[in-house]
Amino acid sequence: MERKPIVLLPQSDASVRGEIVTTGARGVYTASDLASTVPLVAPAAVPEDGLAYLLFTSGSTGVPKGVPVTHGNVRAFLRAAQARYGITPDDRLSQTFDQTFDLSVFDLFMAWEHGARICAMDPIELLAPFRYLERHEVTVWFSVPSVAAVLRRRGSLTPGRMPTLRWSLFCGEALPQEAAEAWQAAAPGSVVENLYGPTELTIACTAHRWDPVAGAASCVHGNVPIGLPFPGLDPLVVDERLKPVATGETGELCMAGPQTVPGYWQDAALTAERFFERDGRRYYRTGDMVRFQDGHYVHLGRDDQQVKVGGYRVELGEIEAALRRAGCAEAVCLHLPDEDALVAVVTGVDDPAGLADAVGARLPAYMVPRAVHLIDQMPLNGNGKADRQALRSRFGTLAAAV
Ligand code: AMP
Repeated sequence: MERKPIVLLPQSDASVRGEIVTTGARGVYTASDLASTVPLVAPAAVPEDGLAYLLFTSGSTGVPKGVPVTHGNVRAFLRAAQARYGITPDDRLSQTFDQTFDLSVFDLFMAWEHGARICAMDPIELLAPFRYLERHEVTVWFSVPSVAAVLRRRGSLTPGRMPTLRWSLFCGEALPQEAAEAWQAAAPGSVVENLYGPTELTIACTAHRWDPVAGAASCVHGNVPIGLPFPGLDPLVVDERLKPVATGETGELCMAGPQTVPGYWQDAALTAERFFERDGRRYYRTGDMVRFQDGHYVHLGRDDQQVKVGGYRVELGEIEAALRRAGCAEAVCLHLPDEDALVAVVTGVDDPAGLADAVGARLPAYMVPRAVHLIDQMPLNGNGKADRQALRSRFGTLAAAV
């Protein structure tokens, strides 16, 4: 049997009904047609603790694990996001994320709830989005920072190039200072924000507003701060024994509140490892190292990217930032535990040996990578982040440096 679609039109577009019917639709309706012809059934009540979706986390936080996110978790996030971004029916939201990435929940549900439009981009347009943004008058941009970093590297972020944007939002990995600066210049009418959050804390749980004038001074290791938690969330920075550290000291960020998911899917042991109760609140341990300084949190890398080299404690994120500062576009630093050595994989630089020298001038000797591999393009995982696993299988021994 031939299947024909039913088309639901915005009220304002009712005049194109005839044209659509001739293209073979089974029926073309507006909302008021439906209200008069179809008895509306009130949707079943959804319990707060009912499962909204189950996502398996990206490799960036280790072995994939099922994260059950409840309706209550999502509602809390959407409320916080609306209080911050005030989406209206005039907004047009980009959709840059794959729908297996929880950041897509922002685009979809913020648009649907507030009557805004969602502009689903072809992934090919992502790396040259300017014409698309202008044609669709996109007002809210949301992507991983890598997109901004690549566009900057290509020299595409020319001043004033994205005049329609009012919000420029980034989340999912560190936002480099240079990317924030270049994006801000290209979208001068927009507010640039760096959002942070693991899947376990439902999409995003902190945000930092980029200050176009004083922003550079707030960056640490070349990255924009992650800011402050959304209202109603309760941050706690702890040491390895879950003891709170003094304000201003580095520790692991934990978060309690309505965005904290109940635990891992059918994995009580892992749940007990990563979630804990304190003073009647349930906290999730993010594995992210942070410090509270100048009124906001700064992200210093993950605890699983902290390594020991020759007995010294080293944050790989710090070396990566130094490599980027020394002139490469992207940098991933790998620790080779068997050889107790560091190697770096970089893009966008002509002279990798010179890069190592420049880094040597900034960092102590034990933090300078023993080899710097130059590649054309950084491999990305399904979520658009640098694929460390792929790099490790290619450059995981010092012999690979020869
Ligand atoms: P995922 O659960 O795949 O969203 O990955 C979450 C992890 O990505 C966090 O625990 C952080 O390590 C990292 N991440 C997310 N947003 C940021 C950010 N703005 N700055 C630095 N790291 C981030």
